Amino acid sequence: MKDIDDLVDGFRRFQSAYYGERRELFERLARQGQAPKVMVVACCDARVDPAIVTDCDPGDLFVVRNVANLVPPFEKGGGYHGTSAALEFAVRCLHVEHVIVMGHARCGGIRALLGDIRFEDGAGQFIAPWMSIAEEARREVATSNAAEGADARAAACEQAAVRISIRNLTTFPFVQEAVAAGRLQLHGWYFDLDGGELLGCDPGSGSFHRLTPADVTA
Ligand SMILES: [Zn+2]
Repeated sequence: MKDIDDLVDGFRRFQSAYYGERRELFERLARQGQAPKVMVVACCDARVDPAIVTDCDPGDLFVVRNVANLVPPFEKGGGYHGTSAALEFAVRCLHVEHVIVMGHARCGGIRALLGDIRFEDGAGQFIAPWMSIAEEARREVATSNAAEGADARAAACEQAAVRISIRNLTTFPFVQEAVAAGRLQLHGWYFDLDGGELLGCDPGSGSFHRLTPADVTA
């Protein structure tokens, strides 16, 4: 685990190596602004950084991270709609061509939704209502006999929650419009931490399959 001094040391290494090697890229990004073609909705979880997982450079991905990588349904009511604001900016202002919802294995938010993690001292007052976006995924897994064991149930729920978020994306009128015009594609991904695999959601069946050949590290 790193502490604050380690992070500052890390920045020095970044400055002399990564930044130094990509000075032109950073200068161009600073001059011209960002123009990513892809937005990623990912989890806050420290293990699932989308830019690391996809080996991307600065400027490649427009990322919003929240607990359990959820997309709420379109709604105009009160509250602070951070994820919806990021989505609006990506689709309407940056004109991204892809939105990826990237779920992942061993998600704490999903474990909380399933009741596998319990909070103490009143914690959870924001997490529980936020996770209710995926309540349908919890019910789906609870009534299905397909997934046996806590890990398999959690994985099924994590993937069902990605499907719900993809569906919620389509409740935003500007997303509907861009998809209908062929300017935007929606993708559901699942990063399997244990196996080091990236899975994609089939838009027809809703099932997840490997996007990369198996056993790449062998
Ligand atoms: Zn998570």
